[in-house]
Amino acid sequence: MKLYTSEALLKSGCPICLKPLNSITSLVAENAREPMAGDFTICRHCTSFLIFNSDLGIRLLEPEEVAAMPAHSRAALVRAREFYQSEPEPEDVD
Ligand SMILES: [Zn+2]
Repeated sequence: MKLYTSEALLKSGCPICLKPLNSITSLVAENAREPMAGDFTICRHCTSFLIFNSDLGIRLLEPEEVAAMPAHSRAALVRAREFYQSEPEPEDVD
């Protein structure tokens, strides 16, 4: 599993739960690549649906954006949320 990061992500963390986020990985290993503006993601801690900004920081996806996203993307985020909510939250690492 390849991990990516960005300066903006390291600086901002999750805009909802404010937990630090230090890395990003693709939900689908064969699609792994560096994140781009407009990519969808999910916070591992609070499972908020998020989107990358042009500086590769993240913001909350608005409900209308979730409704308008491709069905396969929404399904992938919902599956990830269900998985993360069933798993214990990782301990914070310094
Ligand atoms: Zn969060």
